[in-house]
Amino acid sequence: MSVKENLYHIQDRIAAACARVGRSQHDVNIVAVSKTVGADKILEAIDAGVEMIGENRVQEAWAKFQEIGPSVQWHLVGHLQTNKVKQALQFFNVIQSVDSLHLASEISKRAVMLGCSVEVLVEVNTSGEESKFGQRPELVVDFVAQIAQLKNISVTGLMTIGAFLPDPEEVRPCFVKLRKLLERINTQKIENVKMRHLSMGMTNDFEVAVEEGATLVRIGRAIFGERVS
Ligand SMILES: *Cc1c(COP(=O)(O)O)cnc(C)c1O
Repeated sequence: MSVKENLYHIQDRIAAACARVGRSQHDVNIVAVSKTVGADKILEAIDAGVEMIGENRVQEAWAKFQEIGPSVQWHLVGHLQTNKVKQALQFFNVIQSVDSLHLASEISKRAVMLGCSVEVLVEVNTSGEESKFGQRPELVVDFVAQIAQLKNISVTGLMTIGAFLPDPEEVRPCFVKLRKLLERINTQKIENVKMRHLSMGMTNDFEVAVEEGATLVRIGRAIFGERVS
């Protein structure tokens, strides 16, 4: 199937998941995760209506940005090292993977120097898997309050990578945890904080994530096919 057909099929599945829980499908955006995928395929996705591109490596994304440009929103979904922050801020609109004060401070400092401002999401390790990046859930509320005070950063939501489990139903508790954290943060009425994004759900589990309130689903393989490298 073509990228376009894949996307239409995913949109139908998102619409069905929304219908099951009484959400509007317009509240769910697809972030097309295009790591390892060439600019030609990404342009096909954009042609089919994709408005957000997700990449996990700054260097690789930069090369594609040269071809594609700023007509779409660029989301960094992979781990960011502080020595790449400066380059990341040249073109990423949203950094979804902020999980330490050290990193958030560096982003803020660089954004001030560049005279730009950047939207960030806090990555949360909802599965407890040691190998995963992300803040521990019990620390997230305080963490959000801290980074909300930093200049030139706006923190608009939470992101998680669910547990690597074959049955998406088993990943549901991760998504529930993220949604409840967002609700808790919003009821605390922290200054400068109005969280609206839940970035959760990938090829294997996005329908469950949508049922649990995802506003951003990060989908790679279901759009572009299996990754070769
Ligand atoms: C690769 C990746 C995705 C997309 O995964 P698929 O299984 O291809 O849909 C989503 N989020 C992050 C952080 C990724 O690295």
